[in-house]
Amino acid sequence: MSTKRNYDVVQIGRIADISRTVLNETLALTGSEVSINQLPSSGSIPFVHTHKENEEVYLILSGDGVFYIDGEEFPVTEGSIIRVDPSGERCMKAGSNGPLRFICIQAKANSLKQHTRNDGQIQGTKPSWLN
Ligand code: ZN
Repeated sequence: MSTKRNYDVVQIGRIADISRTVLNETLALTGSEVSINQLPSSGSIPFVHTHKENEEVYLILSGDGVFYIDGEEFPVTEGSIIRVDPSGERCMKAGSNGPLRFICIQAKANSLKQHTRNDGQIQGTKPSWLN
């Protein structure tokens, strides 16, 4: 058994109270950036941006709004998940009915070598609830 602690846990409070937090330093992430974000009613990400190397996935947690990519605009709502290539010119705006809450995950495009099916390894140890 490893003596190295293999995890970090933080409690960041109510998601509804967060305007933006980036978890990289908090969780010592090494392969991705994860942020939790909230746009107020009718608020917008204040710029269109691309990335040099990272693709992004936006997971809409609540609210609704409009996503912009490369000149196209489409509605998003709770449950919408948007993947954007690094070169995609992107922006997002909240609707007028309340805040738009979302998680953004970014990782280097084409860096994933394997998925859970090939990377996960079932172990023989068990938590108390799996007896
Ligand atoms: Zn970005």
